[in-house]
Amino acid sequence: TESLWNSGLEIVRVLYSRGHEAYLVGGSVRDRLLGRSLHDIDIATSALPEEVTAAFNRTIPTGLKHGTVTVFEGGRHFEVTTFRTESGYSDARRPDRVAFVRDLREDLSRRDFTINALAVGVDGELTDPFDGRRDLRDGRIRCVGDADRRFGEDALRMLRAIRFAAEFRFSLSLSVWRGIRRQAERLGLVSMERVGAEWDKMMAGSDPDRACGLLARSGLLSCVKEPLPEVVTAGPGGLTVRGEEWPHGLRCLREIGDTDVRWSAFLAAVGASPEEAGALFRTLRFSGRRESRVTAAVVFQRRMESSHDRASFITAILDVGRSAARDWLDMQAEGGRFRDWLAELTVDTMGQLAVKGDQLALRLDKPAGPWVARLLRYLLGEVAHGRLTNEKAKLLKASEEWQDAEQ
Ligand code: ATP
Ligand code: MG
Repeated sequence: TESLWNSGLEIVRVLYSRGHEAYLVGGSVRDRLLGRSLHDIDIATSALPEEVTAAFNRTIPTGLKHGTVTVFEGGRHFEVTTFRTESGYSDARRPDRVAFVRDLREDLSRRDFTINALAVGVDGELTDPFDGRRDLRDGRIRCVGDADRRFGEDALRMLRAIRFAAEFRFSLSLSVWRGIRRQAERLGLVSMERVGAEWDKMMAGSDPDRACGLLARSGLLSCVKEPLPEVVTAGPGGLTVRGEEWPHGLRCLREIGDTDVRWSAFLAAVGASPEEAGALFRTLRFSGRRESRVTAAVVFQRRMESSHDRASFITAILDVGRSAARDWLDMQAEGGRFRDWLAELTVDTMGQLAVKGDQLALRLDKPAGPWVARLLRYLLGEVAHGRLTNEKAKLLKASEEWQDAEQ
């Protein structure tokens, strides 16, 4: 972190030595003041994109129209953006016009929240025109300027406000909260990809429980462009709003390591069906791979709601899969005996059986057909439940008995 920061300062110095103004800005300054680790560094400068390009060996014109050049230095990359303002916002998403400006303060005033409108210059001095430092100290999310207007310009900022409030365990200022209530409808103009990406960051962040609670209470989830399943828009915050408890037995989201398992637990907590889980993931444009994983965990949860014995657990593993079982266990506050049962289970797929389909066809002297899969599934169950050992001779013998019983 320290060395990333220093490399950023080095870029600032290079620009400065060529007669430009340059500052570290935005999230990295905020995170440094909060004592958090830095993940990327943004630099704002009076230099025009071509002047930035001329100052460094390796650059990429990332977003020339917006004045952004990516600079590579010492195996790292930095986004260097010319001071600019934005105007227009006729679609509540992106500005119609970007104008380069000479002054840092103007650049800072286009930024969303006071805590994101901080800049550090060559000598390490802080520029803080909107009292962002005070808000960092007081733990408060406040807009630069009028919240109503800023959310009207760019509706995504409402989700960002909630994300930062949850991430840093800050409160939303009254004006931010009021602005959200007034401008919530505007979220319908934002693409589902961007909504999904923000919500996903909240789920991956330090306090997804708080994030979901704020989302539920803000009413924002019912304002997105494409409708989300109703159980979901209420969220875990919705649970408390309805006076219900977080379902006993599930861990709270922040105690779960994996983001997709957090999503699964959230969906389980609000009582989403596998279909609703799938619909949510598709609407938020998450990958099919993630959708299958989370849906499987929700299916597993449903299966385990009705019966908790070893046999049901093992059957669920055979039907839904071992990875779904692992995810389900990660959702549970206590998994003691289930964890043991899962560890003891040596076979959970047909491929692990000591016989193959063609050997069965040969032994039973029948042409291969759908019956092979049925028989393998039967054998798998017998082995998994401990009624049969996974040895070729035993399995072939059991196959003959199975055939006799089938007829
Ligand atoms: P993090 O990267 O930790 O999520 P960040 O503050 O760095 O937080 P970015 O999305 O990387 O967020 O944006 C960098 C900076 O650009 C922000 O700190 C803020 O000053 C400004 N910014 C980003 N998005 C917006 C927006 N929608 N409206 C106004 N300013 C914004
Ligand atoms: Mg950032």
